[in-house]
Amino acid sequence: MKHPTAWNFGKNGAGLRFLSVLLVCLLITAALPARSTAEDAEQPTFCGFEEHTHTEECFERTLICGETESETHTHTEECYETATICGYEAHTHTLECYADKTADVENATIWRSSVSSAHLTGDWRHDLVEIAETQLGYQSSERNYTVEEGRIKRYTRYGDWYGGEECRYCDWCAGFVSFCLFYADIRNVPLSLACGAWVQSLGDAGLYRDAADYTPKAGDLIFFCREDDPERAASHVGIVVGVTEDGIRTIEGNRTRTVAEFRYQRDESTVIGYGALPENPNRLIQNRALKQQLPPLRRSVPSPDRYLAY
Ligand SMILES: [Zn+2]
Ligand SMILES: [Zn+2]
Ligand SMILES: [Zn+2]
Repeated sequence: MKHPTAWNFGKNGAGLRFLSVLLVCLLITAALPARSTAEDAEQPTFCGFEEHTHTEECFERTLICGETESETHTHTEECYETATICGYEAHTHTLECYADKTADVENATIWRSSVSSAHLTGDWRHDLVEIAETQLGYQSSERNYTVEEGRIKRYTRYGDWYGGEECRYCDWCAGFVSFCLFYADIRNVPLSLACGAWVQSLGDAGLYRDAADYTPKAGDLIFFCREDDPERAASHVGIVVGVTEDGIRTIEGNRTRTVAEFRYQRDESTVIGYGALPENPNRLIQNRALKQQLPPLRRSVPSPDRYLAY
């Protein structure tokens, strides 16, 4: 095939043509890494389909009118029935086809072992921070996800722990905090997977504090709203792990894909309020026991069936 004439410049046509081809190759090579890995042909798929686009050869047209063409009958489209004969379903892989729904799925044994380095003391604020710290570095699944309205929602242990299959792809900031409360063996505090409802239920339990008139402490839940939300509705939650005169340190899930530590100014405008843990009713007894046997009493973490009894 001839190249477009614009590529043939006088005597040096061949040379320029070579350079152009080289340039095109270089551009294609440079463009390759920008492609999504999911679109890579070598990436395994889990949809169970082969990619197939029907061509003309995939269809067979059968005359069904029962007539022959004559002066009174000319075949129209309605005279034919079209059937697919290739044996394939038309299918183009989408992002969802590359999701491995079995990858990184966890169970209660893994969850218990993930918190096993924590030393629970019965001081609920301390224990909540302690459990949160064991979760630092946990990442939502790379390969196990679902696609909702074009958005990738990844598997997390916190959604799965909270509600199994129904919640494993849910937004997980509140799931992370609930998980920590549960494994810190903190009672009499409502758990939730939704920030708005949680502010409500903590309020009903007398545990919610408005940011305007409260000095946060390590071990508080910290609620945020979106920057541009005039209603200042709760949209995110984390755990306060440290407070200085002008700064707050938190551990949060789902601000990024990783459970990580964050820092804020004390007057951070997106902070709307706090969940203040109640005193552990058994703490006095435990404190007495603790004084007698240091290092701190290491208690076993609760099992999930205890959670069901809350
Ligand atoms: Zn076909
Ligand atoms: Zn016909
Ligand atoms: Zn597919």
